[in-house]
Amino acid sequence: MALLVVGSVAFDSIRTPHGQAEEVLGGTATYSSVTASWFAPVRLVAVVGEDFGEKHFRVFRSRSIDTKGLEQVPGRTFRWRGEYVGSMNEARTLETQLNVFEQFTPKLPPSYLDSEFVFLGNIDPVLQLHVRQQLPKARLAALDSMNYWIQGTPEELKQTLAAVDVLVVNEEEARMLAGHHNLKKAAQSIRKMGPRIVVIKRGEYGVMLFTEHSVFCVPAYPLDEVHDPTGAGDTFAGGFMGHLARTGDLSDANLRRAVIYGSVMGSFAVEEFGLGRLLHLTPEEIESRYREFKSLTHFDV
Ligand code: AMP
Repeated sequence: MALLVVGSVAFDSIRTPHGQAEEVLGGTATYSSVTASWFAPVRLVAVVGEDFGEKHFRVFRSRSIDTKGLEQVPGRTFRWRGEYVGSMNEARTLETQLNVFEQFTPKLPPSYLDSEFVFLGNIDPVLQLHVRQQLPKARLAALDSMNYWIQGTPEELKQTLAAVDVLVVNEEEARMLAGHHNLKKAAQSIRKMGPRIVVIKRGEYGVMLFTEHSVFCVPAYPLDEVHDPTGAGDTFAGGFMGHLARTGDLSDANLRRAVIYGSVMGSFAVEEFGLGRLLHLTPEEIESRYREFKSLTHFDV
């Protein structure tokens, strides 16, 4: 089954202790759609400017991503500049140029309207809800958000939360949204706001999955070196939703597998700058790291 992804497509300029990259293809929808394309057909909804060239479109086409919903309008593409220092757990945003993203209103091509799996990347919750409402056949709609919306438009975000099945956020966002420091309590109170599944990303400490029936905790894959954490969260979401769209199975057992696939893909993303590693994977590499997670977390009782 196809996965619809909406979010930002950007040119990122990134500096980490391992180097830097100028104006490379990035954005939340880029990371999640390229990642999910390793699992299922992907439909992209985003906006770019006139400076978005053929070589950039080719990146999406190289992954067979449907770009009918990638709108090109007059103006410049969204730009983000950030740096990571020290433990590299959080990006420091140095500059954001919204450009064409400022007036973004997601438009869904008719062929997208039967989408059953949806990832609403981090954009204005009003726009996220607008997309969700156009998809009556959605079996699983997942939402990402951030501090900016949690603090700035809490009422709009609450309405959107009530209309989705999954929330994927990092731990500080979960705490802020719920008003609880304790993550278990935070997840419980978020579940009461609408999403029956809550996924909390904890960077180098891994991921927690909360469902009606259970809690599942997974460590991050221990890498020798992290080169660029940009997009790791969106990559996680792409792997998580991609696996669910591929299988169509929403059981607790399969949600757990999806968390592992998300973690596997997140670990690949940070190995190289930008999209580098995510574009040059093989299905065998993905499966091999998936199995490594099994031995990483196995113990005898
Ligand atoms: P992450 O590392 O998962 O937080 O995502 C990083 C990506 O988010 C980068 O590729 C940026 O282009 C994109 N990004 C940064 N700020 C924003 C914003 N305000 N809205 C949408 N996307 C953004």
